[in-house]
Amino acid sequence: MFDLHCHSYRSDGEWSPAAVVARARERGVRVLALTDHDTTDGYEEAAAAAGEALRVLPAVEISCSWSGKEIHIVGLDVDRAQPAFAGALRQQQARRWTRMQGMADKLARDGIADVMSEIRALPAVSPGRQHLARLLVARGHVRDAERAFARYVGRKGSAYVPAEWCTLDEAVGWIVAAGGLAVLAHPGRYDLSGGALLKLMTAFRDAGGVAIELSYPQLFIEEAQRLAGQARKLGLLASQGSDFHSPAQHWTDLGRTPPLPPDIAPVWSLRPHWLPAADAGLAGGSAVA
Ligand code: MN
Ligand code: MN
Ligand code: MN
Repeated sequence: MFDLHCHSYRSDGEWSPAAVVARARERGVRVLALTDHDTTDGYEEAAAAAGEALRVLPAVEISCSWSGKEIHIVGLDVDRAQPAFAGALRQQQARRWTRMQGMADKLARDGIADVMSEIRALPAVSPGRQHLARLLVARGHVRDAERAFARYVGRKGSAYVPAEWCTLDEAVGWIVAAGGLAVLAHPGRYDLSGGALLKLMTAFRDAGGVAIELSYPQLFIEEAQRLAGQARKLGLLASQGSDFHSPAQHWTDLGRTPPLPPDIAPVWSLRPHWLPAADAGLAGGSAVA
């Protein structure tokens, strides 16, 4: 079983990389991509925790902008040491820290002080608004993260600072240059019309992207069918991932990925060696489900 999208506390997930891997193994995952936002720093810990029955892929989820929208690109099986790729992630992280500082300054004007020292103490190397929201809840300024976004850190909030991401072409280009496979993350979550979505997917493919996620939490059947139709039209492969962040998100769990359309090749057909040695041995014998 493949789960090619999840997060640890190196970005906005709740668990350590080792805890994510342990849960994935319990849930029967054989190939896991730890796709923290704009960092691969959790990879070594995750790989060390993996054991024989599970393979961890070095992977990432890059935030970029396209046509004024924030779009997420997953990079699978990347060479983390490739200099342009590593440098690009450092730049993305630096932008995140600058943005956090800007929002912390605005919060300080609202009487909410010492935000950055608390953010810096977290294990996250890629901080985001989710971290600020949790802090605002923990300090009792708001009742829940939703209200933290509405009042402070959301687009209309008093502490909002817009993000400055790289372009779609840059994000895909870095992944490809690092030997990875670029996957368009959760394409149904961008609030795009059919025409705009097809434009996005075309730009993504033309930049070097190979697959789109067609199985992820809260993707409902009609939307899944619309996306699958566009993937077929453009010759894109299919990927799947739980986008797991925290056990509190009861609607998803590691390895929980509804089936892909049977007529669209999965992204792992490009990298058959991903399956752990134990499975590769089995695959040589009789058919394996
Ligand atoms: Mn996230
Ligand atoms: Mn995402
Ligand atoms: Mn994600």
